[in-house]
Amino acid sequence: MLEAPLGRLRGIGPGRARALERLGLRTVGDMLEFLPRRYERAGQVRPIAALERQSRDLQRVRGRVAAVGGHRPRPNLHITQAAVQDGTGTLWAIFFNQPYLVERLRPGTDLVLTGRVEIRYGRLEMHNPQYELDPADDDGRGGLLPVYPATAGLSQKVLRASVRQALDVGRDAVEEFLPPALVDRLQLPRRDEAIAGIHFPEDEETLARARRRLAFEELFLLQAALALVRRRYVEDAEGIAHRPDPEALKRFYDALPFTLTRAQRRVVADVLSDMAAPRPMHRLVQGDVGSGKTVVAAAAIFNAVCSGCQAAMMAPTEILAEQHAASLQDLLGRLGVRVELLTGRLPARRREALLEGLASGEVHVLVGTHAVLDRQVTFRRLSLAVTDEQHRFGVRQRALLAAKGFSPDVLVMTATPIPRTLALTLYGDLDVSVINEMPPGRRPVRTRWLRPSQRGQAYRFLAEQVARGRQAYVVCPLVEGSEDGGAKAAVDLHRRLVRKLPHLKAGLLHGRMSGAEKQEVMRAFRDGEISVLVATTVVEVGVDVPNATVMLVEDADRFGLAQLHQLRGRVGRGSAESYCLLIAEPTTPEAEQRLRVMEQVHDGFEIAEQDLRLRGPGEIFGTRQHGLPDLRVADPFRDLELLELARREARRLLEADPRLR
Ligand code: ADP
Ligand code: MG
Repeated sequence: MLEAPLGRLRGIGPGRARALERLGLRTVGDMLEFLPRRYERAGQVRPIAALERQSRDLQRVRGRVAAVGGHRPRPNLHITQAAVQDGTGTLWAIFFNQPYLVERLRPGTDLVLTGRVEIRYGRLEMHNPQYELDPADDDGRGGLLPVYPATAGLSQKVLRASVRQALDVGRDAVEEFLPPALVDRLQLPRRDEAIAGIHFPEDEETLARARRRLAFEELFLLQAALALVRRRYVEDAEGIAHRPDPEALKRFYDALPFTLTRAQRRVVADVLSDMAAPRPMHRLVQGDVGSGKTVVAAAAIFNAVCSGCQAAMMAPTEILAEQHAASLQDLLGRLGVRVELLTGRLPARRREALLEGLASGEVHVLVGTHAVLDRQVTFRRLSLAVTDEQHRFGVRQRALLAAKGFSPDVLVMTATPIPRTLALTLYGDLDVSVINEMPPGRRPVRTRWLRPSQRGQAYRFLAEQVARGRQAYVVCPLVEGSEDGGAKAAVDLHRRLVRKLPHLKAGLLHGRMSGAEKQEVMRAFRDGEISVLVATTVVEVGVDVPNATVMLVEDADRFGLAQLHQLRGRVGRGSAESYCLLIAEPTTPEAEQRLRVMEQVHDGFEIAEQDLRLRGPGEIFGTRQHGLPDLRVADPFRDLELLELARREARRLLEADPRLR
């Protein structure tokens, strides 16, 4: 029955079926899974005389059409007016551009109207109210009416009727797939009950129970999948037990230009102990920007190389990959480790030589972008895979990389400070270590929001810093919907800066430049040949030039909090006092609030939480680029308790039935 096409249902003709198909709804089953976005409380039917005149709430009346007429005040505007009476008064139902209603709402028609009351010239009106012509269908009790997210031109009334029909014929076919014992123990409604309840809940409590069941089911499936992944790559896999070598480790520490923070030492210890175990490591290292994750990766990599193995490190952009290669070269080169960089545009001859070196084991460490995943890349003995800025890599990419080795240890690093709720959803398959301490001598980046009228002041300050031998970033406005990622804005700003302040030696970096050009500009900036880097948000992630002390962001109100925090993280990486100047004329209270948060808050986790509060989970959760799974009912921010329950239950089930037979 669930497979039956909707066109076969009573009351759904070919036209309606086509409209439903545009919503992706073909079968009875599709219709049942088409979940309401919200609910309207229709409220009791009121006598017209008792309508609340001031209220903006939906109100509902039942009456009979006394008169109806239509007119066309402008060529593209048609107005239908129906006078509806119920014996206590008259209400005018006004409809725009639905001329056919003049025919449908003939005098004498009984109907129920739901809408907001408007007073015009002393008249009671409802504009485009919902109307139900078959009031027998309406029990007048009020209750919750589902509101569906998309309509493809269908009214909510039609959608509701279609769902009702689908429920009538399909409900009995809805199968329970959670283990019955689990459903009993957690006192969840059965699946068919929950589906019925989410569409037409009798009351708030039924709705809450239905929602909880469907949210649990979603989180449970996700957690079960993650637990399966984990079992496959961690628990069942035969890994390489890297012998820890205290002497080698000492050489590593001695060669460092600084001593590790306590947090770094703790995380390195977590990592090395994972690596020593015969099972593959599967660990996420979280640390705010600038907390020093690279050196943790370097320690792990050195440990792998000392065990006679190889390591790979993958980064989301070429700039970052290039920079990691340089940092690892710095940290490990003098210890005899050979680090090489592979990007998509390495010349064929050098690429070939590199691939040979990897296959023979002469090259110990490969750093690169997605090119590392290429089928032609083979290692002699890959035992460690590090991925940076994990949020841009999915589970699949991680698995691809892991598949290149003999169940290598996997280390994932992220600077995106995500609250625990999300970490569980995203990384349910990983163990987590947090670097919750900054290297010594770091001072919080002094952050100021300036009005565009103070722009001159901002650039004078920037020039002063440059005069003292410091460097600066100028980040260009985010151009909404621009196809070039803001490249034009960057080019323009760079041109103006060069003309007005030629002595600043400004360079330009944007996503439209070729890889070689980008790399050359970054090198020049790192080597101090350029003092000011005018850039789009391509500098957002991971760029590390400790001599840079000013981050100036133009039109800062257009950036999200997380992004501003990432941008700010590009400075304050040395011991010199650093500054973040946010130039903005915010047009919304939220944008203003973001700027204030930036001025006051420096901790990445706290910023992430403020971000949640300001934007709401939907916004953040709705963006696909975070690699978040597509949840329809559950909200991993609000449903933390349910998420943890789902995680426990999923692991418990897998314990009892490891193959989910
Ligand atoms: P992130 O966590 O953002 O990747 P990095 O690993 O790039 O941070 O480190 C940021 C900067 O801090 C680098 O310049 C690095 O050399 C430096 N650094 C890292 N750890 C320490 C430490 N324990 N003491 C001093 N400086 C450190
Ligand atoms: Mg980094």
